[in-house]
Amino acid sequence: MSSPTPLEWHAGYADLPAAFHQPVEPTPIPDPYLVAWNPVVAAELGLPRDPAEIGGLVELLAGNLVPEGSRPTAAAYAGHQFGSWVHELGDGRAIVLGEVPDRSHRLQEVQLKGAGLTRWSRMGDGRAVLRSTIREYLASAAMEGLGIPTTRALAIVGSDLPVLRERLETAAVLTRVAPTHIRFGTFEYFAARRLDAERALLADWVIERHFPGLLTLPAGDRYAAWYAEVVARTARLMAMWTAVGFQHGVMNTDNFSILGLTIDYGPYGFMDRYDPTWICNHSDHSGRYAFDQQPSIGLWNCARLGEALYPLVPEAPAREALASYREIYATEVIARMRTKLGLARAEPDDPALITAWLELLQANAADYHRAHRALSRWDADAPASRDPLAAEIADGAALDAWLATYGSRVAREARPADARHRAMLATNPKYVLRNWVAEEAIRNAETRNHARVDEIRALLDAPCDEHPGWDRYAEGPPEWARHLAVSCSS
Ligand code: AMP
Ligand code: MG
Repeated sequence: MSSPTPLEWHAGYADLPAAFHQPVEPTPIPDPYLVAWNPVVAAELGLPRDPAEIGGLVELLAGNLVPEGSRPTAAAYAGHQFGSWVHELGDGRAIVLGEVPDRSHRLQEVQLKGAGLTRWSRMGDGRAVLRSTIREYLASAAMEGLGIPTTRALAIVGSDLPVLRERLETAAVLTRVAPTHIRFGTFEYFAARRLDAERALLADWVIERHFPGLLTLPAGDRYAAWYAEVVARTARLMAMWTAVGFQHGVMNTDNFSILGLTIDYGPYGFMDRYDPTWICNHSDHSGRYAFDQQPSIGLWNCARLGEALYPLVPEAPAREALASYREIYATEVIARMRTKLGLARAEPDDPALITAWLELLQANAADYHRAHRALSRWDADAPASRDPLAAEIADGAALDAWLATYGSRVAREARPADARHRAMLATNPKYVLRNWVAEEAIRNAETRNHARVDEIRALLDAPCDEHPGWDRYAEGPPEWARHLAVSCSS
């Protein structure tokens, strides 16, 4: 079949030997229609920004036709799920179409999520539902908008094909794009089977394509340096999640990207009220992946990756890399919180100031994002600027006590107040993908108002901009959404 697009397809992952994947074509869906189209991702791939111009591409994104040059395949992987080893996982509903060059001539892997059964579907139906694809589509845009490494989402294609979850829903296919979707669990898959040659081949494939700077190192040092880099990226990613109040929800090693990208958005959440003990995933009964557990789980996952790479990466450098994790995490988190508080240079007492701020938010059940936004406009010399902060933080005396310390701290900064306000308003988002906002997009789409998905996506693309007329989506959860539950069902 021929491709309706100007995309130039390369086989990519399908070029790897048989042990790595299962060649499998997407299963078509009836009467596909476009639900969402991300013009930013499209433009990066050299596709039209305007969905009206994409014509027959919808059939391709539905999995109903396979483009020339593509050899669709599902990837093998394993992983630790909620702490337990699972010997065989693999793409159970995602099918890699291949790779296409982006605008900067870097190859991007294109995957259809929800494209039908594969050898790894187990009890599943190989499908995704409209609800879960919208959640992933919006979260990918939200993370990108916040400057956090993530897989991207190009489009959602829907169909009336019924799919049973807790209730009857309809099928949808998400087009996911990333330099690679290789996971920690991909390495664990080969390590557990003692397929040492395949594991080394996979490491070389990843390093050559995604860490080319390491190729100048002697082979003996290269793998260890690469592992240290993956550990560092993971530590920094966890810090970024912490600073923006993001909780992944299912931090299994099969959901951890070898590139340090946020991947596999399921029952994730962005915080409303600040509560570090928050568990966004209702299927996570023990709270293993609670917000404040994320940094240590990131480290735990890196340790599992280290075991899977032994002896390619010897024990001593692996331990050294793991030992650096906490320091990298702490440095990054403090740097990010300093930026959120508008502190341009570092002072030794900053960690204490940050901790006191977070304790103030927690004690007052303050909205994490609205409090930062209000603080961004606070000025000791303008008493009215305290009002929006006081609206978020009820204990006025505690607020004033903290503001006194903060006020003298910012007074020591060289930059003028308005420059601080501008910097803070450019880093503390007004629009956050709260659960209720995602739910609005879903409810609209389920009644065929698909436009709302991309309207909300556009807010998240530039989350610190004012977007006049859309203020409603900058609010905390309305009454109906206070107890929205998200689970692993998707
Ligand atoms: P997740 O928790 O979404 O990361 O998925 C864990 C594993 O279950 C992966 O191997 C998925 O491919 C597989 N999976 C999830 N949902 C389905 C489904 N509806 N059909 C087949 N496999 C699925
Ligand atoms: Mg997954």
